[in-house]
Amino acid sequence: MRSLDDIAAALQGYDASALPAGKVNEFLAALVQPVAQTEELPLAQALDRVLASDMISPISVPPHDNSAMDGFAFAGSDLKTDEPTKLAVVGTALAGKAWQGSIQAGQCVKIMTGAIMPVGLDTVVPQEMCSVDADAITIAPGILKTGDNRRFAGEDLMAGSVALSQGELLAPAALGLLASLNMPTVQVYRKLKVAYFSTGDEVLSLGDAPREGAIYDSNRYTVIGLLKRWGYEAVDMGVVRDSPGALEAAFTQAAAQADAVITSGGVSVGEADHTKAMMKKLGDVAFWKIAMRPGRPMAVGRITPSVFKAKTAASREEISASSYQNDSILFGLPGNPVATMVTMLAFVRPALLRMSGANTQKYGSPPLYLQAASQESLRKKPGRTEYQRGLVTRAADGSLQVRTTSSNQGSGVLSSMVQANGLIVLHHDQGHVAIGEKVDVMMFEGVM
Ligand code: AMP
Ligand code: MG
Repeated sequence: MRSLDDIAAALQGYDASALPAGKVNEFLAALVQPVAQTEELPLAQALDRVLASDMISPISVPPHDNSAMDGFAFAGSDLKTDEPTKLAVVGTALAGKAWQGSIQAGQCVKIMTGAIMPVGLDTVVPQEMCSVDADAITIAPGILKTGDNRRFAGEDLMAGSVALSQGELLAPAALGLLASLNMPTVQVYRKLKVAYFSTGDEVLSLGDAPREGAIYDSNRYTVIGLLKRWGYEAVDMGVVRDSPGALEAAFTQAAAQADAVITSGGVSVGEADHTKAMMKKLGDVAFWKIAMRPGRPMAVGRITPSVFKAKTAASREEISASSYQNDSILFGLPGNPVATMVTMLAFVRPALLRMSGANTQKYGSPPLYLQAASQESLRKKPGRTEYQRGLVTRAADGSLQVRTTSSNQGSGVLSSMVQANGLIVLHHDQGHVAIGEKVDVMMFEGVM
């Protein structure tokens, strides 16, 4: 395990008060490790879980050469190229059992989709491509060639080949493939457990009486919602008061049970609160100002059992009695609602994806962007990454276009997220965007 100092050394040469977003992802990738523990699950319960080993196909799929169409199977060598081919129908091959008869030149067998190709036959004419009368068919010349409409055994998968690789996120297609191999159970990585709490004395829980200067806790709902979308077990710890005692208890309880601890609020510069002090006390934590908008301040680190135990004398017994053995990765996110969501998408998602054991390349870490033509000019300063809330639509000519969703792109304006279907990502070195210029968009469909 690399130390945080080691990893932080990789960031040297960068201005800690304006760290490029890409560097933050590199740091996080070095900091987090995929979970080691696995469990065996029935296929029907494995949706959205991460495959822990390669799955080798015990059989070929399909197991036999078979017909891709309802029609007539025959030997391609019977096809005439300059005149119609006439064939006598001598039997019917149904799906699910092999046709046992034997066949001569000039004969064919009526066949259903999926039925095993009778021995010696290699071509199928779909019924709508031939004329059928009584017990003969006629095929016009030039419309078919040998091998048409026949599926080969093993076309989908050959016995002994890797059907699915470790790190596969089990989507419906993957479950279907495993089912086609008669695999009733799979070995998956255990689900990540992620604890979250909001901090700040101005933050109210739903149902609390309104109070001047106070706001209702929206981050709790956006963050927990994202964690659930990503398939993780979310531990909702509510709002924690800005007092050393409450924060220490919350961090202790969170780190003792979760792979990652996420908080929002209290990481800004000059913040008159105890969150930062408590993070420092309990773990190895770096406080960054990231060259991005929104979401500049962020704390990232690790609460390690040894550090944690040494630092929390009061909770030592509680900790040793618990199953707490692993590091918890800590993300202290900014409190502004849009900044919280953007940092979740830009940094927390890739890090958790890696921790979950998933193939980060395939599942988009960094996410795969689509490109759309900007419908407006956008002001942008080189030297920071900007995430603007965008609505991607189709232009009259079918191409993709995007506009920002709200005149107010402020980091607290959550309605700009609600109206959007993606984030326009204006990269670190990018400058102003002209109307019609293509921009990258991180579509919400796919990341949340
Ligand atoms: P902070 O990062 O603590 O400086 O907070 C920045 C802004 O986000 C402030 O206006 C806070 O009131 C607001 N904020 C902090 N936490 C939350 C939360 N859980 N839900 C909604 N807004 C929040
Ligand atoms: Mg605050």
